[in-house]
Amino acid sequence: MRKTFKGGVHPPHYKEATEHREIEKARLPQRVIIPLQQHIGAPCELIVKVGDKVKVGQKIGEGKAFVSAPVHASISGEVVSIETLPHPVGGKVLSVVIQSDGLDEVDNNIKPFGSIESLSPEELKKIIREAGIVGMGGAAFPTQVKLSPPPEKTIDTVIINGAECEPYLTADHRVMLERTEDVVFGIKVVMRAVGVSSVYIGIEDNKPDAIKKLEEAVSGEENIKVIPLRAKYPQGGEKQLIYAITGREVPSGGLPMEVGVIVQNVGTVTAIARAVKTGMPLIERVVTVTGSGVKKPRNLLARIGTPFKDLIEECGGFNGTPGKVIMGGPMMGIAQTSLEVPVIKGTSGILVLTKEEAKQYEPGPCIKCARCVDICPINLLPTRISHFSQMGMWDEAEEYNALDCIECGSCSYICPSKIPLVQRIRIAKGEILARKRKK
Ligand code: SF4
Ligand code: SF4
Repeated sequence: MRKTFKGGVHPPHYKEATEHREIEKARLPQRVIIPLQQHIGAPCELIVKVGDKVKVGQKIGEGKAFVSAPVHASISGEVVSIETLPHPVGGKVLSVVIQSDGLDEVDNNIKPFGSIESLSPEELKKIIREAGIVGMGGAAFPTQVKLSPPPEKTIDTVIINGAECEPYLTADHRVMLERTEDVVFGIKVVMRAVGVSSVYIGIEDNKPDAIKKLEEAVSGEENIKVIPLRAKYPQGGEKQLIYAITGREVPSGGLPMEVGVIVQNVGTVTAIARAVKTGMPLIERVVTVTGSGVKKPRNLLARIGTPFKDLIEECGGFNGTPGKVIMGGPMMGIAQTSLEVPVIKGTSGILVLTKEEAKQYEPGPCIKCARCVDICPINLLPTRISHFSQMGMWDEAEEYNALDCIECGSCSYICPSKIPLVQRIRIAKGEILARKRKK
């Protein structure tokens, strides 16, 4: 039987539109918007000014804090403005706007670093940090920080996340098929940087071609194993992946390192491979542009900073009037209010839903069916926490471990009364954290 975790749901996959479409290079954008914050942690400090000429791969924002990641120019051209602009994760963020000179000239400092064996673990981590690499599955946590656990934590296992359990998204699937060699190279960099000898690549069994391709690629590698996983949402959640593959349970409020594990996304390891092999920092990524609201769904290799509207236009534009545009998938993605927002390092997809698909239903009363409780992968009581949130009972919500909620949305998905459980739990989490900060 396939490995899996407790709970979870089975939303339709909706991956047919792009799962067999090869990655295509998106057109070079005429203008990019590079936010100085694209990661969890401190924003970058600006190191360019309006009027500066920049080249591809040149650093334009320095990540000085430990938990931060620098940002780089993704096209060559001129810095035409530095202003606070809408960000796809919400709100406005100080951003550098670069107008292309059409030359796509690469910064002279971009050079290959040599073989993995010739570089020490510390040198590898420095390359990863300087390349601005963050978790590309959506979380955008600086990778070098993840690879530098405190000395008292022993890491014995690395898990490569190729689950891609969100409906519609196929960027990771295509990366595993088309950049297999880079996935394996990136894994070897991580193994040397962290000093682990045991690596598992977890892939849902709805991607048999990717499982086969990677099994072939690592057949001669004793310490790297491909683990087919049952296709179930949210299989790609870190805690769910760790449990499914190792049987270890990350404690409440804890991180994977508490159980000796580091998880890296397949896109992230290919970015690591590129940084070491060529010296090029993270300036582009694969984005699945899909949904019935877009005419020609595709997997596009897009420069960081490309406005969403450019990629939607490149996919033939909207199919009728769109109902909702989401960054990411339908379960955990973020609804957008502007198409001017740029692709950031964590943009795995742009999903366009039709008006009918995006229709909001009036929530009914809770019928106490307990379905939300049965499927919660964290064993929470979503209905209780949602109730506390509505009543403003933040202490009680915290007692019921609201902060452990991974916001997977499975409870809202399964609820027959269409109660927006995850939205209410998210509000409770925000309030609890705000109160903690004030203390
Ligand atoms: S309570 Fe949180 S973790 Fe549990 S199903 Fe709902 S969103 Fe997912
Ligand atoms: S699934 Fe919905 S209706 Fe059923 S117990 Fe949970 S909140 Fe109530």
